[in-house]
Amino acid sequence: MFGNLRQGLQDAGVHTLLLQFTDAQGCAKGKLVPLAHLEEVLQAGAGFAGPSIWGTGLPRTGPRAEYYARGDAATAMPLPWLPGVARIVGDGYVAGQPFEACPRQVLRRALARLAERGWTLRIGIEPEFFLLRRGATAGWEPADQHDRLDKPSYDLKSLPRQMGFLHALQQALGGCGLDVLQIDHEDAHGQYEVNFAHDDALASCDHLMLFKLAAQALAEARGMVFSMMPKPFADQPGSGLHFHVSLWEGTRCLFDPEKPTDSLSPLGRHFIAGLLAHAPALCALAAPTVNSYKRLTVGESLSGTSWAPAYVAHGPNNRTALVRTLPGRFEWRLPDASANPYLAAAALVAAGLDGIDRQLDPGPDCVDDLFDWPLARIREAGIGLLPQSLAQALDALEADTVVCGALGPVLTTEFLRLKRAEWLAYARHVSAWELERYAAAF
Ligand code: GLU
Ligand code: MG
Repeated sequence: MFGNLRQGLQDAGVHTLLLQFTDAQGCAKGKLVPLAHLEEVLQAGAGFAGPSIWGTGLPRTGPRAEYYARGDAATAMPLPWLPGVARIVGDGYVAGQPFEACPRQVLRRALARLAERGWTLRIGIEPEFFLLRRGATAGWEPADQHDRLDKPSYDLKSLPRQMGFLHALQQALGGCGLDVLQIDHEDAHGQYEVNFAHDDALASCDHLMLFKLAAQALAEARGMVFSMMPKPFADQPGSGLHFHVSLWEGTRCLFDPEKPTDSLSPLGRHFIAGLLAHAPALCALAAPTVNSYKRLTVGESLSGTSWAPAYVAHGPNNRTALVRTLPGRFEWRLPDASANPYLAAAALVAAGLDGIDRQLDPGPDCVDDLFDWPLARIREAGIGLLPQSLAQALDALEADTVVCGALGPVLTTEFLRLKRAEWLAYARHVSAWELERYAAAF
């Protein structure tokens, strides 16, 4: 089998493997390995210094100091933008065993819990992103200086200016077998969205990482910075990473086959209720940076309507709620572009299963525009608000045994430790805004 795969890759002109795994931060990491060593990559894996990888908690010495990324043969794929190189996705192993804190292993465990009940999870991940450059004097700005409309959603003036990048990206993803569906200008200057077809949850997360690799390389080749920062500009909307979710047992089991296509089945209602009940803890994984909470604002944001969900509610085609139900699937609008897709998906499964096991009720469908509701009315209706800072989200995660259970003890400890350090570094920083506001004020 190795021989066939190696021959196939060689015939496709591949001489080198890019063995890639994802750290807890959601960043692609890895090594280049000559194709001749494919067999080692697939069997033992390539070794890395464990403590040098974010979130492993591995020691600096001894047998557990070594993190192995073991290639998943099914993912081997030549990269059109890097001739001669094929990416292969690695799973984390330590001391010959699946490593519990590897994000891809975390998702595998979550999916195995679904499989025990005969269910498969499919996700369509929708990346929004910015194309930026570092301005000579003014700091970061959209790479396209002419992209300045008041209402830039679906702007066809600016979109073609990035045709070189966008078409190269479309071809790169298509060349890797992804079915690119739509590309549009999003609602902020310099912001775009690329959609590709949904797939099994693990494959979709692998596809998102491939998308990030391709977009980063193709933007850099054009002198631009590809940014998955959730909210680079205070006066513009941020970047979401919405998950379109369906659960399958032969057919789509979150919806009622006897009713209109967007009617949830009892199972679907419990699953969504789990997502709502665990929403504060899920934030820590789906919106994992200090900056994420500039996107998830309750009430007016400096950018006007941001379309980011701060209200813990669900409703048919309701983009102002955390969960928007659609025919045959629901859109989980919480994740932002900085989320590690494997961890966000694993946490989603844990929350959904808890909703099913405890037969939770998500409450009535919300059909109103929640962005129009004053806060007092939101509270009266019993609609919860999402955490408004990373610190609050981390406290919610620490208190949530279901979501921590999905991560496992090692990753829970490491994630909380590193993210609390991130919060503290931010909180201790004195920003330009503070100086402007206070320096001469008193
Ligand atoms: N950019 C919005 C967000 O941060 C979403 C816009 C949309 O609905 O496509 O979630
Ligand atoms: Mg969008």
